[in-house]
Amino acid sequence: MRLLDWTRNYFAQAGLDAPRLCAEMLLSTALHCQRVELYARFNQEPSAAELATFRDWVSRAAKGEPVAYLVGTKEFFSLPFRVTPDVLIPRPETELLVENAVQYLRKLDGPSTVWDVCTGSGCVAIAIAHNVKTTSVLATDISQAAVLIATENTQTNKLADRVTCAEADLLTIPSAWPNPAEFDVITANPPYVGDAEEVGFSVDHEPAGALRAGPDGMDVIKPLIEQVPSFLKSGGLFCMEFGQGQADAVRDLIIATGQFEEPTIIRDMQAIERTALAKRK
Ligand code: GLN
Repeated sequence: MRLLDWTRNYFAQAGLDAPRLCAEMLLSTALHCQRVELYARFNQEPSAAELATFRDWVSRAAKGEPVAYLVGTKEFFSLPFRVTPDVLIPRPETELLVENAVQYLRKLDGPSTVWDVCTGSGCVAIAIAHNVKTTSVLATDISQAAVLIATENTQTNKLADRVTCAEADLLTIPSAWPNPAEFDVITANPPYVGDAEEVGFSVDHEPAGALRAGPDGMDVIKPLIEQVPSFLKSGGLFCMEFGQGQADAVRDLIIATGQFEEPTIIRDMQAIERTALAKRK
């Protein structure tokens, strides 16, 4: 399709990652079809309205607006999530939180509970609930706008009965949570980017509250690690994502609580230390 080739090249010149995928996402959404259907439609002319939408999106994407915000969805752990500029766009590396939580929860007998703090779009909470049918999840965020999106995502993924979304500042149990305040697993992808750190022209469109956390990016991680042990069962698992270069500080903070066994730090697919796992003593 000439339109796709042209757009792909335009995006490549503009410095976008995955330019063909971006072009396909925008065109299929503008044409109200699946991405795989694009190539079967090569001789079908888009309508004037479809073309106008597509052109608008292409110029905005080339200037750095994330494609996920333009089309309004992002896939995470093979599930669809609605995203708006009120929430961080789910990242592939964040799937590490889900993988490790699911692996731990599947070994437990009977019902379990999970608390996903700083839930944003709700992607971690919902992906865990989808993959472990015996678990109930509390998903909280300090942003009311994010909680609305997370709630909508529990509905579209048909998990509203097992995922409770509520507004809360770090580890404050909201009144909507019907279960005890001690959890089998606590997951978190907190903001961890330093205030002055460069994030790139596309990430700059994402909410600062979901990204930035003080001069060294540790302003949320620090109180979070201090508060977590009081809400974890003995033997319970804490899984937290952090930023490049923060592994030593995170490990030290976890050990300093005196409440955890030796933490494990795992790397993402780019071999960057990304996720801490720690079991409550
Ligand atoms: N991984 C994100 C980035 O690279 C940051 C996510 C976060 O702060 N939790 O921009």
